Amino acid sequence: MKPGRVLIVAGSDSGGGAGIQADLKTVVAFGGFGMTAITALTAQNTLGVSGIVPVPPDFVALQMQCVLDDLGADVIKIGMLPDTAVMGAVAEIITAHSEIPYVLDPVMVASSGASLMNPSARALLLNALVPGAALVTPNIPEAEALTGLTIRDPGGMKKAAETLLEVGAHAVLIKGGHLDGQLLTDVLLTREACFAFESERIISRATHGTGCTLSSGIATALAGGYTLVEAVSLARRFVRGAIMAASPLGGGVAGPMAHE
Ligand code: PLP
Repeated sequence: MKPGRVLIVAGSDSGGGAGIQADLKTVVAFGGFGMTAITALTAQNTLGVSGIVPVPPDFVALQMQCVLDDLGADVIKIGMLPDTAVMGAVAEIITAHSEIPYVLDPVMVASSGASLMNPSARALLLNALVPGAALVTPNIPEAEALTGLTIRDPGGMKKAAETLLEVGAHAVLIKGGHLDGQLLTDVLLTREACFAFESERIISRATHGTGCTLSSGIATALAGGYTLVEAVSLARRFVRGAIMAASPLGGGVAGPMAHE
């Protein structure tokens, strides 16, 4: 893979399972060059989130600007945006650099139940960042929150993806892991076609941060010149392999790249 440059705009997970830490490990594993604009600090471990400190919006913007003015980026990956102020600052820079494709992982609530985004920021996410995204990667609860739809099956996932395309996203990948069943389906909808990626559910407690890992893998593969379908396929395979190879640390839910 061509070593593409990826600017990651996301929150820090002190436990190393999700957020910036998962993103950078993934970019490196894909052979890319990772740069970061940190949007929030979280104090967390495998048991949950104990505290969140948002980074001042101007400083988030400054990190992005410094990177883009000098090193440049082939793809930007956006993860945790804690509030409307940070989101607005990120949206402004993204709009000023409309030539750089971005992958938007609309992080809202951690699987441990902690809120990672102020719910008042949902409308801004939908209006300012979903339009223009090369890819949006919600899980089922995030897709429901963004569209107001209730999703029960892959047909419902496709409808929600259509809604996000209508808002202006170029492509949408809805991840089906929150639906019941042994067979998992992720639905990728572009302006041209709809793809269903199916795989067997893996029973594991190394699944914290899999969304961050998947979206960073996709972003790095896109930066490396792969097509969207290839990038999704490579990143899914990577996440599955990482979950299966992980030796979970801590007493709760660890990240897929956890090793003692
Ligand atoms: N913490 C940070 C900083 C994140 O960016 C994310 C990303 O989704 C999470 C936690 C959530 O991880 P999970 O929901 O997989 O536990």
